[in-house]
Amino acid sequence: MKLLVFSSILMIAGGFYWKKNLPATSQLIGDSPKNIILIIGDGTGLAQISAALYHNNLRLSLEGFPVIGFQKTYSANNLVTDSAAGATAMACGQKTNNNVLGLNKDGEPCKSILEEAIENGYATGMVVTSSIQHATPGGFVAHRKARNLYEEITEDLLSSGIDLFIGGGKQFFDRRERDERNLIDSLKYKGFNVYDYFNHDIFTVKPDPSRKFAFFTADNQPLPAFQGRDYLPMAAKMAADFLHQRSEKGFFLMVEGSQIDWSCHANQVEPLYSELEDFDKTIEQILQFAKKDGETLVIVTADHETGGMGLNGGTPRMLNPKFTTKIH
Ligand code: MG
Repeated sequence: MKLLVFSSILMIAGGFYWKKNLPATSQLIGDSPKNIILIIGDGTGLAQISAALYHNNLRLSLEGFPVIGFQKTYSANNLVTDSAAGATAMACGQKTNNNVLGLNKDGEPCKSILEEAIENGYATGMVVTSSIQHATPGGFVAHRKARNLYEEITEDLLSSGIDLFIGGGKQFFDRRERDERNLIDSLKYKGFNVYDYFNHDIFTVKPDPSRKFAFFTADNQPLPAFQGRDYLPMAAKMAADFLHQRSEKGFFLMVEGSQIDWSCHANQVEPLYSELEDFDKTIEQILQFAKKDGETLVIVTADHETGGMGLNGGTPRMLNPKFTTKIH
């Protein structure tokens, strides 16, 4: 069991920013935070964080956190979790089998933190660089036995009560194979202002906090960062500001650097660096929000490592990363 635990730990960094200038230990006790922002780097293990640090002149926004720890990431049926079981564990607090979204290992629905936040009157949102139906965001809104049921996951997202989402996956709303429904119309009926990358520039859109907000950044999957995708840092900050205005009680926001994982599946180093830079800029934006707001808990973690990456020496700017697998 020890091997199981120690072969699948990942870093978790966090900070409670509602009591400024207190030492880290003091921030672990006391009042509850009003807002929670959970930032997930998909596939971002310790080697990826080290690579980002060395590649970025030995500085990362992650260093701004007062608390660093580890989490045990194995799933209910595998030594190595996938993103579906990983997201379900983070969202519901229960281990489940790989490939499963929002159901426990016995197949029963588990309530996610996002759903619990909605029930209790908090504003909620998700901002990702994958499709919004992909495994990680799916774990927070869907209850399905398989992560690739994208059209069904879209229905769960639609009925979730979420206030904001930004990501790809428009085609699962408006060109559905399992039914003829146009769920963009359903989004509008449910109070969303709906935007997409065909017709709008996300950098100039001004969300109206009296309405819900959806922005589709792709039909299916958004571009990788090395091909020019750069919205995540700005969109994460925009989402935090929007949710902050939308609920006096507080909010829960999940932000994902989705494609760190994909570049590691492909064993590609330069695309990985672009994703890690984008991710660190996103953390920086959220930290600025949290420090200014003073009532927000920020947590940064990963679901699993991808690529079995190791750093084999070099210099800070000329690393020699090696991958040992195409999977997790
Ligand atoms: Mg993911």
